[in-house]
Amino acid sequence: MATKPPVYKNYIAGKWVACKSGKTFANVNPADTRDVIGHFQDSGPEEVNAAVRAAKEAYKSWRLVPAPKRGELVMELGLWLKRNKERLAKDATREMGKILTETRGDVQEGIDCALYWGGEGRRMFGETTPSELPNKWAMTMRQPLGVCGLITPWNFPMAIPCWKLMPALLCGNTVVIKPASLTPLSVWNLVKGAQEVGFPPGVVNLVTGGGRGVGTPLCEHPDVALVSFTGSTEVGRQINLACAKDFKRVGLEMGGKNAVIVMDDANLDLALDGVLWGAFGTTGQRCTATSRCLVQRGVYEKFLSALAKRARALRVGDGLDERTEMGPAVDEGQLKTDLAYIAIAKKEGARLICGGKRLTGPKYDHGFFLEPTIFADVTPRMRLFKEEVFGPVLAVVPFDTLEQAIALQNDCLYGLSGSIYTKDVNKAFTAMRDVHTGLFYVNAPTIGAENHLPFGGVKQTGNGHREGGKEALDLFSEWKAVYVDFSDSLQRAQIDTEKIVKLEGKKR
Ligand code: NAD
Repeated sequence: MATKPPVYKNYIAGKWVACKSGKTFANVNPADTRDVIGHFQDSGPEEVNAAVRAAKEAYKSWRLVPAPKRGELVMELGLWLKRNKERLAKDATREMGKILTETRGDVQEGIDCALYWGGEGRRMFGETTPSELPNKWAMTMRQPLGVCGLITPWNFPMAIPCWKLMPALLCGNTVVIKPASLTPLSVWNLVKGAQEVGFPPGVVNLVTGGGRGVGTPLCEHPDVALVSFTGSTEVGRQINLACAKDFKRVGLEMGGKNAVIVMDDANLDLALDGVLWGAFGTTGQRCTATSRCLVQRGVYEKFLSALAKRARALRVGDGLDERTEMGPAVDEGQLKTDLAYIAIAKKEGARLICGGKRLTGPKYDHGFFLEPTIFADVTPRMRLFKEEVFGPVLAVVPFDTLEQAIALQNDCLYGLSGSIYTKDVNKAFTAMRDVHTGLFYVNAPTIGAENHLPFGGVKQTGNGHREGGKEALDLFSEWKAVYVDFSDSLQRAQIDTEKIVKLEGKKR
């Protein structure tokens, strides 16, 4: 007999609590919707207020804990993730569908992130600099901001929350985290880990629920100093506007429409592996997914037929099955979006060379499975060229010269990731310089960011902040310039000191 799915609560001020309304929502497995993973609190403004209050109270003492000590706890959380990696990966696959090797990678990224930020507790360097005046010391130091609202998407249910949580805590902030409603379990697990390793009550708070019910009140709360958001450009724009009213700091990581350039001289087998992995890994549901593949005319047809053959052979199925190579769409809405873009591409005249249909049959009927899909001869006027699908639907575009390829790459509202396959160092460096993205790869797919480098995009992908690497410190901390005058006299900076001396002389 099937056991009843558990009910998961919010975590506020160190206690697991149900929301006042008593409402919950179900978390279901997209590979088999009969599998209900659990019920989560469908919270509202009241829970947000309680969580922010708890975080504000905890901030008073957390900010005074020495950064190396905060770093030790962050590192402990990383080690907790490491000990529980397999269970956490299975939970993530079950709630969002991507294959186990990828969710293991997702958790691993959380571990790497925690270990990186744990060490940062002993760095967080400021600078000392000469003062313009004698007997005066000048320096800079980093300070926390206060309560941070963290709003996360479903596609990296562990890594993205960790990218935000670890630096936020390390810098001395306290947090209220709101996970995507499609993947609340991974964040619930992470917060449970934070409790188990001993973060003081109120430092980490979890409130589950919808974007409007929880996300909006969190952004609008006067005691929230910073909102760090990853998700769609559409929602990011709303969050930006909500935060602008109070001049809140806001970090936005949003949509992408990433392209790979395949030159005639490329190692085509390597490029094939990279494009397949970039386009169909995570079922195309990565912000850095390869959704456009620009191929030089000399190898265009040859590359296309090899690509279609390899894509057709991909094993689609339940991500919990180790043999599966591509899992389902995350939910019915995403599957419908994928199918809608397939219909649009056909109507606009793109050439379907593989896939295009929802998968059916006993293995597929209870989930949201789609064939890996490739369209050739896509042109810049087509919607498939411009708009983010966030599914396993690849647009292939021919080009003649590198200059054309770079112009096609840059003909995009977004600017997250780009890549080139070539053996010619001149072409690689030209593309590296001229492609307008926040991430760029040479002879590698558009995916594969590492924790200690800045992560983020330009144009409508981001708002200038970066996650990952020491650059993330600038999002989660505030600079303070400090002057110490040990001259025992009033020294005035930025003014003509000679005149002052004369004026003071006259007065006497
Ligand atoms: P989404 O924008 O629908 O939701 C993201 C989060 O925002 C969720 O927690 C959601 O509940 C919340 N939210 C929704 N409406 C809100 C509102 N009005 N106010 C406050 N919060 C609100 O995105 P998604 O479907 O979860 O994720 C897919 C999108 O995320 C894609 O566009 C993808 O490109 C993007 N993404 C970007 C990156 C990056 O680093 N650039 C990484 C992963 C995903």
